[in-house]
Amino acid sequence: MDLLRIDDQFTDEERMIRDTAREFAASRVEPHVADWFERGTFPVRELAPELGKLGLLGMHLTGYGCAGAGAVAYGIACRELEAADSGLRSFVSVQGSLAMTAIHKYGSEEQKREWLPRMAAGEALGCFALTEPDRGSDPGSMLTRARRDGSDWVLNGTKMWITNGSVADVAVVWARTEEGVRGFLVPAGTPGFTASEIHRKLSLRASITSELVLDDVRLPADAMLPEAAGLRGPLGCLSEARYGIIWGAVGAGRSCYEAAVSYAKSREQFGRPIGAFQLTQEKLAWMEVELGRAGLVALHVGRLNEAGQVTPQQVSFGKLANVRAALDVARQARTVLGANGITLEYPVIRHMNNLESVLTYEGTQEIHTLVLGEAITGLSAYR
Ligand SMILES: Cc1cc2nc3c(=O)[nH]c(=O)nc-3n(C[C@H](O)[C@H](O)[C@H](O)COP(=O)(O)OP(=O)(O)OC[C@H]3O[C@@H](n4cnc5c(N)ncnc54)[C@H](O)[C@@H]3O)c2cc1C
Repeated sequence: MDLLRIDDQFTDEERMIRDTAREFAASRVEPHVADWFERGTFPVRELAPELGKLGLLGMHLTGYGCAGAGAVAYGIACRELEAADSGLRSFVSVQGSLAMTAIHKYGSEEQKREWLPRMAAGEALGCFALTEPDRGSDPGSMLTRARRDGSDWVLNGTKMWITNGSVADVAVVWARTEEGVRGFLVPAGTPGFTASEIHRKLSLRASITSELVLDDVRLPADAMLPEAAGLRGPLGCLSEARYGIIWGAVGAGRSCYEAAVSYAKSREQFGRPIGAFQLTQEKLAWMEVELGRAGLVALHVGRLNEAGQVTPQQVSFGKLANVRAALDVARQARTVLGANGITLEYPVIRHMNNLESVLTYEGTQEIHTLVLGEAITGLSAYR
């Protein structure tokens, strides 16, 4: 149903990665994900080693057991995983683009050797702790502090909405020091460090989201990521993860669209399939156009990324445009399915609810709008 035949632009290797990720999502996740969503669980310890074996964790990184794939191949994998559920893609993004990228980009040789091979294999899990209960869009004003005590560091603060936080073996925690924001590797079980799962979410239910509390957490000097200084550190990782969302959103939208097309062809009212009515066709044609455009944006930003030319503004463009398109497609698809559209028997409302989180995390739609506004006018409107 891809009228533009965007996938024809992929290389053979990219197509192979697409098929691998698609097959994994179809066989290991899709048959169970509605149930996980309903129960609010995600069997991350079981799935992580399987994703690791397929080379899908930190796949765009090189060395230390990582696959060293191109940006487009990584994006395609995100697309296929998110077609199953945004929770699955969120896990892969946090593990690879946030936690592993922080260590790969900013870590010491010892930190990389200690964590990256096990994280790439899915044997060790990571999380990325930037957001706080009262500091979301403005992480520069974070309250979490790290102070020196001899050669040690002592961390205090609370982090909120942290994906994989309560299952992670290592948390990448961002804290303010006297020299500005720095990143720290906090192994699970460190005294004073607790992580508890956040319940009663109605979005990304097949994903673990946690609150982390750091109460006089004492860390050795070498727990700090030596190469990350200032807010540029976490923002550099977020740009990688946002890139994956540009592709992932297309997958979630595609799943809703496919459900709508199939339903429109089989559901009959007034003696005809509802797909034979012009109003339904208008919805389906509009979804095809939105998803075709989103797919082109993803591929374009992906090729720029591979050429080392992509800018944060282009990533904001893609995240803003594609998540909005996917959410609009999900809402339209929901109407095509009528009452059936509100149940977990079909993937549509699950994707729709998930996309509300995707719209908010990794920079809200408003923040990405302000990024574009500043790029257009040269005037900053954040404050
Ligand atoms: C399921 C889920 C998983 C997450 N996983 C992680 C994770 O792994 N790690 C992590 O660190 N964080 C994570 N987050 C947190 C996420 O990144 C934040 O929720 C996001 O940055 C927004 O922060 P906030 O929720 O505090 O909203 P706020 O910043 O309080 O914003 C509330 C509203 O005000 C708007 N707003 C804020 N500032 C401005 C402005 N200057 N101009 C106009 N409007 C503005 C926002 O756009 C939004 O609409 C996750 C969130 C969710 C929902």
